Amino acid sequence: MALDLRGVNDSERIIHELTNKITKFEIILQAYYELMEDKGISQEVLYDKIDEIIGRQVKGQYGGRRKTCPKCGKVIQESYSVPMRGTCMMCGTTVMFYPFEKDTDVVEENREVDPLDDLGF
Ligand SMILES: [Zn+2]
Repeated sequence: MALDLRGVNDSERIIHELTNKITKFEIILQAYYELMEDKGISQEVLYDKIDEIIGRQVKGQYGGRRKTCPKCGKVIQESYSVPMRGTCMMCGTTVMFYPFEKDTDVVEENREVDPLDDLGF
């Protein structure tokens, strides 16, 4: 596909980059699938696995998962704009949300935190 980059605004450029990435992933996924077929894994087995995963009601892999802040005990939500990271709105602690983590639905704990701790007083 020929693309004239003159006059292309940022959102068009971003869409173009994302489309290229998705195309790359589609090729990689197709390669994995064909290798699986070569190793005897049938389409039915693949479909069963897809059904199983949907049945688990897996949440979106990025954004919205929740963890307890290790410092103050408040709930930290994974960022929708910065994948796999979340920042505590109360104390500013940043935590990682790795893929396939299971302990990301949490309840809030109340921990006593001295707000002056990080200020050097
Ligand atoms: Zn916190």
